[in-house]
Amino acid sequence: MSSNKNELNLNEFVSLCKRRGFIYQSGEIYGGVGSTWDYGPMGAELKRNIKNLWWDTFVLKRNDIVGIDTSILTHQDIWKASGHIENFNDPLVECKGCNKRWDQEKIQSETCPECSGELTEPRNFNLMFKTFLGPIESDKNIAYLRPETAQGIFVNFDNVLNSTRKKLPFGIAQIGKAFRNEITTGNFIFRTREFEMMEIEFFVHPEEAKKWHEYWISTCFDWLTSLGVKEEKLKIRAHEPTELSHYSDGTSDIEYLFPWGWGEIQGIANRTDFDLKAHSESSGKKLTYFDDSLQKHITPFVIEPSAGLDRAVMTFMTNAFEEEEIDMGNGKIETRSVLRLNPKLAPVKVAILPLSRKDELSGFSKKVYDTILNSPIISGLIQYDDTQSIGRRYRRQDEIGTPFCVTIDFESLNDNSVTVRDRDSMKQERIEITNVVEYLGNHLN
Ligand code: ATP
Repeated sequence: MSSNKNELNLNEFVSLCKRRGFIYQSGEIYGGVGSTWDYGPMGAELKRNIKNLWWDTFVLKRNDIVGIDTSILTHQDIWKASGHIENFNDPLVECKGCNKRWDQEKIQSETCPECSGELTEPRNFNLMFKTFLGPIESDKNIAYLRPETAQGIFVNFDNVLNSTRKKLPFGIAQIGKAFRNEITTGNFIFRTREFEMMEIEFFVHPEEAKKWHEYWISTCFDWLTSLGVKEEKLKIRAHEPTELSHYSDGTSDIEYLFPWGWGEIQGIANRTDFDLKAHSESSGKKLTYFDDSLQKHITPFVIEPSAGLDRAVMTFMTNAFEEEEIDMGNGKIETRSVLRLNPKLAPVKVAILPLSRKDELSGFSKKVYDTILNSPIISGLIQYDDTQSIGRRYRRQDEIGTPFCVTIDFESLNDNSVTVRDRDSMKQERIEITNVVEYLGNHLN
């Protein structure tokens, strides 16, 4: 190997995503619709793997967090109480350069205070998408598409408490779509109007809020690095008091250094007792917790780790991308692009690549494919690919991050063995058919 290029610019990234079936522009045949994006076969799989791993880590493997799934369509009363209707009605201006949104009343300059870019005209608008429940478009029937999943958790606080008998500290997690009518979208799937969030509302004794805030900042950070995100590309940035959301007593963002600059990928906020109190007052239903040791009702504080799933897709992909020049040994240098994704994230786990399409070999290869496909210790997508040259097939699998290719040649028919090629080292190992499932299982799990 002679050199590496670990950066890919935004255009290269967008084109890789399209070429390899990760992400397509939505409604592309109509010229693209409102900067919305669709996930292709590889992208859908990667996204599902991220969601499953997040859920596994924070819900299934913990006794102090439960998961729920609440509605996207939400009645206006909830958003009145949460402060979202009032809070997003300011005259906002947005920088056409860096996309930062500003409250016009709070800035003194004509240009963007951060980068001096040109600002849009001020507009009184709410970030939430408004709609009506039922056929009558009356003020009584106004609902909103949720701009965060959190409120579905707060309004169910009592239901979850009564049905699970959880004790403080405990959390409620949710993964789902959220919608924000952003003035300016941009940087591909980084800022869109429809996106997916992975959120936890972690309820704690008020005096322990600071401690749990710190805990969740480092836990979120560690989750990213445990899945291969390079530590030097991550930073934790505490919000300035003027930046804080209306509900927050302190927020720290985890930012990632994309090839085109730093961007927030997760936010961890101390939302205090703001939301539970607001919904208690507005609904008339007490959203409190009976503390056995204090023998009284208290309103817990809540720490909220909130992660954008689409930004996680972008992070894991750009973090894993590498282009390297390989010395082929015969004076030839070849370039290969490889996504060094953690195997748990990889869309395709194993590719079965017969060297020939001849009947005898494909019959044998399909049996190998079926064995791996139906093995209880290997889960995820297994591909069978007998098109084009083996070099091209390796290149295709490298580019989508497939950890292992299993190559079957005519010798396999005699020695009952296959060649397993490792994506990262490109090392090839001859392995007996009877051991191949165990070998792959050991390396993938
Ligand atoms: P930004 O300032 O970048 O718009 P935000 O501070 O408004 O983000 P939060 O309200 O903290 O975002 O939302 C939590 C997470 O949801 C963010 O860290 C991000 O990963 C994701 N997110 C928020 N808005 C969008 C969006 N428009 N498109 C994609 N992901 C988003």
